[in-house]
Amino acid sequence: MVGNSLTTINYERRSWIEKANCRGANTNDFFDIEYKTIKERQTIIKLCEECEVRKECKAFGEHIKPESAMYGGVYFRGRQQTHPLKVRYKRKNNYA
Ligand code: SF4
Repeated sequence: MVGNSLTTINYERRSWIEKANCRGANTNDFFDIEYKTIKERQTIIKLCEECEVRKECKAFGEHIKPESAMYGGVYFRGRQQTHPLKVRYKRKNNYA
C-alpha cells in the first residue's frame, strides 16, 4: 500500500512540476531557509510568487510535511507553516 501511494504522489508531482518556476534552479535554495540571508529568501519568494503552480506546490508540501523546506511560497517546519521572512536567521558556521 505504501508503494502505491508513493507512486500516486510521484505521478501527481510530475504532472505539475513541469510548469514550476524553479525548474532548473538550485533546489538546495528551498531548504533550511533559516540559514539563508534575507536577500536570498526574497529571491526565492519572488520565484514562488510568480509561479503558476504555487497552489499545487503548497498542497504537496502540506501533504508531505517536510522537516525544513519551502513549497508554494510557504516555509514548512514539520507541522508548522510560516512565511520565509518570519523565520529567524541562523549562521551556518559559528566562525567569528
Ligand atoms: S511555488 Fe516555488 S517551490 Fe513551488 S514549484 Fe513554484 S517556484 Fe518551485
